[in-house]
Amino acid sequence: MKYDVIIVGAGPGGIFASYELTKIMPNLNIAVFEAGHILEKRKCPIDGKKVKSCIHCSSCSIMNGFGGAGAFSDGKYNITNQFGGTLYKYIGSKKALELMYYVDELNRKYGGEGTKLYSTANSDIKKLCLQNGLHLLDASVRHLGTDINYIVLENLYNYLKDKVDFYFDTPVEHVLYEEGIYTIKTASESYQCSKCIISAGRSGSKWIENVCEELSISTKSNRVDIGVRVELPAEVFSHLTDELYESKIIYRTAKFEDLVRTFCMNPHGVVVNENTNGIITVNGHSYEDKKQHTDNTNFALLVAKHFSEPFRDSNGYGESIAKLSNMLGGGVLIQRFGDLIRGRRSNASRIEEGFVTPTLSATPGDLSLVMPKRILDGIIEMIYALDKIAPGTANDDTLLYGVEVKFYNMEVEIDSSLETKLKGLYVIGDCSGVTHSLSHASASGIHVARCIADKN
Ligand SMILES: Cc1cc2nc3c(=O)[nH]c(=O)nc-3n(C[C@H](O)[C@H](O)[C@H](O)COP(=O)(O)OP(=O)(O)OC[C@H]3O[C@@H](n4cnc5c(N)ncnc54)[C@H](O)[C@@H]3O)c2cc1C
Repeated sequence: MKYDVIIVGAGPGGIFASYELTKIMPNLNIAVFEAGHILEKRKCPIDGKKVKSCIHCSSCSIMNGFGGAGAFSDGKYNITNQFGGTLYKYIGSKKALELMYYVDELNRKYGGEGTKLYSTANSDIKKLCLQNGLHLLDASVRHLGTDINYIVLENLYNYLKDKVDFYFDTPVEHVLYEEGIYTIKTASESYQCSKCIISAGRSGSKWIENVCEELSISTKSNRVDIGVRVELPAEVFSHLTDELYESKIIYRTAKFEDLVRTFCMNPHGVVVNENTNGIITVNGHSYEDKKQHTDNTNFALLVAKHFSEPFRDSNGYGESIAKLSNMLGGGVLIQRFGDLIRGRRSNASRIEEGFVTPTLSATPGDLSLVMPKRILDGIIEMIYALDKIAPGTANDDTLLYGVEVKFYNMEVEIDSSLETKLKGLYVIGDCSGVTHSLSHASASGIHVARCIADKN
């Protein structure tokens, strides 16, 4: 079977690449290969009752399938170059922002109209942060919410399904190259194309490394972020979340001068498991629909670890730490802040007696047995710093789930068109190591489609 363009991965990068291609080059023959299920079949079996923790499905519905890792994400589209990736370094700051606004326009057109765009511009919270040694990053954020995000994806799929050949539950095993033609090999078939866009996301991190090795494309080692997810009563952060929805705050620790940052804030949200290559870590999201709101807000506190030569396996380091928590707790561990600072493990009765009811069923334990001391010290320091702008953050009953790990893909060598040294092979979204967010991954998809059109 021959195609003009084959896209690997139907996450935001792959979806927006195929969308834009069908708009600007409607005659192209396009196929999208996706390891996971079609949207309506994506269902994580964890229901908190019968199935309480990850049962390692062969295709993880949180990470794989139409919509990618973004399908059950909180649908927070941060429009900024200050975080979420370094796409601007490849295509320029102005263009990167323009593309993010274009994606925002499409999200609204396909079901997100009526959702709120929050902004840090002119916020007094910035001053409050600075007065307390904290730095609030600038951004506009469209919060679609997990529910509206799903509707947008449904509408985008309905638009695309007659214009693009979708192959679901079909992981691509190999990408081969010979004389300007790419052969995409699945378990049972081979397909050919002259242009191939790889957008395999974080869950495809190991796979893309192999592809790059097989095609002799350079990669360089990246970083890993390690931390915890904090869960507390929504009132504690409501003055921030009501105005900004998500606040990205950075703190430099007094002890080691490490940077600790807040990440992925979910007012009235839920904490969830995340399965990356079989390792269970923690994440969170929230719904736009008020009926599905919880009493809690959750967010991550992360410390970035950059490694220098000769060590290249930053993700392996993060995995080893996550494996420790999986070994001790069979998955994610939960601990009350008060127990952590008193040097004792949390147990079921201490969690139950606490005033914050966990939204994820996790194993009570001791995070100090899992996290490197320097990272844990930084997190504790930041909790006290946040307590100054949001009193109550450092309460004994504040819950910490661990570990949260942000795995970053190796950075693939690509140019300003996001094209590798092999003409016609593009690597975009989170699997390129360039983006780490819905907005940047989506923008990279639009960019690559336009570059392909320009070169045609
Ligand atoms: C629970 C959760 C909440 C999140 N919340 C937010 C948020 O609110 N805001 C935000 O900006 N970001 C959020 N993120 C991160 C965001 O989802 C990702 O940055 C974004 O989805 C990246 O898009 P992508 O297209 O690059 O990759 P992905 O969305 O990961 O999509 C890649 C797709 O490729 C498929 N694939 C992988 N390997 C292969 C293969 N070999 N063959 C075929 N298919 C393959 C996968 O199955 C997957 O569907 C969240 C992530 C999670 C897990």
